[in-house]
Amino acid sequence: MGRVPRKADERESPNRRFFAFAGMPFPCQLEPAVKTIFEKIRDGEIPSDVIHRDELCFAFRDISPQAPVHILVVPNKVIPRVGEATAEDQTVLGHLLLTAAKVAADLGIAESGYRVVINNGPHGGETVPHIHVHLLGGRPLTWPPG
Ligand code: AMP
Repeated sequence: MGRVPRKADERESPNRRFFAFAGMPFPCQLEPAVKTIFEKIRDGEIPSDVIHRDELCFAFRDISPQAPVHILVVPNKVIPRVGEATAEDQTVLGHLLLTAAKVAADLGIAESGYRVVINNGPHGGETVPHIHVHLLGGRPLTWPPG
């Protein structure tokens, strides 16, 4: 017999609310089976140098920095990649860029300049299917990219 969903569960996820409404137990198969590495960082399950958190996103130092400053800005919500974002994601996508600019200013690279990059799909170089903005700076960056 499944347990009755608690009030706290209902606040956490639309899926929980649906199953509570349907009188069914939770967890259910609509939840992704495996978390992305960025969800694990978001949830404090693996260590990371997190430098920013707010209601929509978080930012941390890339584990394999490609420049003196290399930060990843990631939404709390899992959007796999730009190509799978919807109109519903417009606010959070804009927020990622504004946060990258704020972090750049906080880290003292606003004046010298920086680059923001979003890799999409295999040819784009995406390796983690949880959309993220790379903030790169602290040295002159070449163009075109490889
Ligand atoms: P992308 O290749 O655009 O999907 O970017 C993924 C980025 O995540 C790479 O730059 C990785 O170095 C970085 N990364 C992977 N695992 C970690 C981790 N545990 N902590 C910080 N950065 C990570």
